[in-house]
Amino acid sequence: MSSMPLIFAATCDIAGRVRGKAFPADQMNKRLQRGLGWTPTNVQITCFDRIAETPFGALGDLLMIPDAKADLDVTFPNGQRERLILSDITTLEGEPWDFCLRSALKSALARLHAVAGAHLVCAFEHEFQIKSDAPLVNQAYSREGFERQRDLCEVLMGALKSAGLEPDSIMKEYGPSQYEAVVAPARGVRAADHAVILRELTRSTARHLGQAATFTPIRDVASVGNGVHIHMSFVDDEGTPLTYDEAGPCGMSKLTDAFAAGVLKYLPNIVALTAPSAISYERLTPHRWSAAYNNLGFRDREASLRVCPVTVRDPASIARQFNIEYRAADAAASPYLALAAIVHAGAQGIEDDLTAPAPTEEDLSLLPPADLQARGFVRLPETLEAALEAFTSEPVVTGWFPKDFAAVYRAHKEGELAHLEGLDTAARCAAYEDTY
Ligand code: GLU
Ligand code: MG
Repeated sequence: MSSMPLIFAATCDIAGRVRGKAFPADQMNKRLQRGLGWTPTNVQITCFDRIAETPFGALGDLLMIPDAKADLDVTFPNGQRERLILSDITTLEGEPWDFCLRSALKSALARLHAVAGAHLVCAFEHEFQIKSDAPLVNQAYSREGFERQRDLCEVLMGALKSAGLEPDSIMKEYGPSQYEAVVAPARGVRAADHAVILRELTRSTARHLGQAATFTPIRDVASVGNGVHIHMSFVDDEGTPLTYDEAGPCGMSKLTDAFAAGVLKYLPNIVALTAPSAISYERLTPHRWSAAYNNLGFRDREASLRVCPVTVRDPASIARQFNIEYRAADAAASPYLALAAIVHAGAQGIEDDLTAPAPTEEDLSLLPPADLQARGFVRLPETLEAALEAFTSEPVVTGWFPKDFAAVYRAHKEGELAHLEGLDTAARCAAYEDTY
């Protein structure tokens, strides 16, 4: 007997989990053509494995259609091989399914192109922590902190490279046992594919080295969270950068300004999609370098949307380096859905010809509510419940998605919240840490 090589066809769903099924590697052509069967109610499986209220029940059938451009084949140093192919979900008739998040992102990107002739270039920056009985402390950004996980960092970066990502850098972050991995930007849906792949390969790498990694939004409210920072820029059909204008506010082109304005206007309504766990709102609090208000920052890490620095050591590339960073996201979110929401908000800003507010330079948490309001700032929702209400009650935002999407999403998240009932914050953090 010899073992049979299998390829895992994968989706990333509302719970931000990667789920799917494996097929024999020699069936690849057949599967690219015919797909694999999938079940509608799966979209209501929460991150705690409970099925939330579902409009589909036991009924219906779908197809997972693997994307030939989104496969990976990685062999780890211990000989373990990972073969995975990212997939879209369609109806049996071949139409994108209303709850296929990868398809939702494709339609948001198509809207951006239709309204602005722009393609998104994007990189997800991820923070994660290594779980252990004795967390590594007093090692913020340190060489020793890096050395303690040099093996993991080297195996991970090698795995990312063989999966087709371009590793940029990796470091010991500020928090206990916290690290951060950065990869180069990619176009459109590939950027979100890369985020899925990075999370999976990080957890796999840790497991193969006898450790465990978590991307949970926050482990301990006395410390910092694990952010996902989404860097975005734009190019036209010829690949010419569209993001920068030396004369524009903070260097933003008209397109970037209007996109940023849309994101900031709808941020309170989309945060349920980009920071979608109950404990995400423990991270989105002032003074954690995450995001607490719908403000623009110029090179300021206490802003939800940050105009990032460029290096003048390479002046010719400034227009290409220039990017804006969305900081109110975490890894409980599907990268597809988070990015779809941000791109729709930005496209709405372009369609409505909005102008971004001036960047903030002060600590907004010190301003009295009346001053905040007078300047057009709002404190982002402080609980998942409030964020869900802000999402489902804004028809402009729910209108970006298929008809029943908002209701199904809310039911999913309410199922997740029901699982946490009666748990205190520490127990909630522990529950999410076991998932992400
Ligand atoms: N850990 C912070 C967060 O939760 C980000 C720190 C940084 O700027 O890298 O987003
Ligand atoms: Mg960081």
